[in-house]
Amino acid sequence: MNDVTTLNTCCNAHGELPVEQGRQVILQQLEVVSTTEFVSVRQVAGRVLAEDIDSPVDVPGYDNSAMDGYALRFADLNDSEQTSLALAGQALAGHPFFGAVAAGNAVRIMTGAMMPDGTDTVVMQEIVTLEGDLEGSGVIIPTGIKKGQNRRFAGEDIAKGSVVLKAGVLIQAAEQGLLASLGLGEVPVKRRLKVAVLSTGDEVCLPGEKISKGQIFDSNRFSLLGLLASLDVEVVDLGIIADQPALLEQAFSKAANEADLVLTSGGVSVGDADYVKETLERIGEIHFWKMAMKPGRPLAYGRIDSAVFFGLPGNPVAVMVTFLQFVLPAIKKMQGIKDWQPMTLPATSTCALNKRAGRTEFQRGIFNYSEDGRLLVTISGTQGSGVLSSMSRANCLIVLTDDESDVQEGDQVKIQPLIL
Ligand code: AMP
Ligand code: MG
Repeated sequence: MNDVTTLNTCCNAHGELPVEQGRQVILQQLEVVSTTEFVSVRQVAGRVLAEDIDSPVDVPGYDNSAMDGYALRFADLNDSEQTSLALAGQALAGHPFFGAVAAGNAVRIMTGAMMPDGTDTVVMQEIVTLEGDLEGSGVIIPTGIKKGQNRRFAGEDIAKGSVVLKAGVLIQAAEQGLLASLGLGEVPVKRRLKVAVLSTGDEVCLPGEKISKGQIFDSNRFSLLGLLASLDVEVVDLGIIADQPALLEQAFSKAANEADLVLTSGGVSVGDADYVKETLERIGEIHFWKMAMKPGRPLAYGRIDSAVFFGLPGNPVAVMVTFLQFVLPAIKKMQGIKDWQPMTLPATSTCALNKRAGRTEFQRGIFNYSEDGRLLVTISGTQGSGVLSSMSRANCLIVLTDDESDVQEGDQVKIQPLIL
């Protein structure tokens, strides 16, 4: 863990830590979950591959036809005139033609069916004429056929023994299908990351209960649960903890004991809810950062025992933004996903944006496409850090980095779509 003095050397004139630097400091210190487990290929979407997968088979497993048509021996074809061949039978997917095909014969074949022994070429049915007294007893093949055409070779997609997927790949639909196509019933994956979530604050109450004056409903924990839902982690929900030293200590210790990663919200701003800070300082190794960003200036980061700890700010939008900028990359790294990057796209702003230089601002935006296919973005409404409704209307964050100042209508900006 870097100590506060080294971190302070990279702070700006306001004593704030630039976002990118904060992210790097965090990422450097995280370890990947080390336990591997075997999971049914049916359940494996969203998990992270723990080992390289060498293909146990050729894919396709045998030479087969890429077309509905006729399999034949290329050597039987005349060079300069059409060729008449006798029909010896048929090959369907799952129902091969058994036996060798003799000279002068062809076999009716369907897409995916195994190439009969002796044949090397498939001619598509559309260019073949049927002949003979009995319809279909013979076929006439035109000239211009190429040797081996419309034939898929065994191992053409994946050769037996080759590395198909590397450790650290996030298994999504294509990977799930690919693993199944190799005949794997079970797949080695990283165990799920355990993430504990809790809210702090004497004023914070459970939705569904009655509240008194001066109290608010807990929304942060629910935004966090929503964000975590798409990340395939195991959630330990520890509810709301009042600002009392003994209760906080108990909850933080329990969270650190049960989870790899602890997320709290509230109580990390300067001079506010001192019990949270005091408790964290006592039981963990935690830095209280002022991030050069808006929203989300206060952020606590460190460890309690072996668990990684993020104390997110209390304001509802700041919670989501700090999660997306710091916690999301941390989770991806701890899950063992290699080469993860946030998705950012260039877009043209259709409105002017106020921006103070020297910090990164994440403004809530709505992107869409112009008629000529350009990506446009506009602000989604009031940008107060407690205004969740404009976060809900947004489909992206407009990322304005430290060196940028006010944006004029028509300027290029960077956006982060709100898709995890
Ligand atoms: P704090 O840093 O604890 O003073 O929190 C900053 C602001 O966020 C205050 O207005 C809090 O009431 C609000 N806040 C804190 N926790 C939550 C929560 N779980 N849900 C909604 N708002 C919260
Ligand atoms: Mg508080």
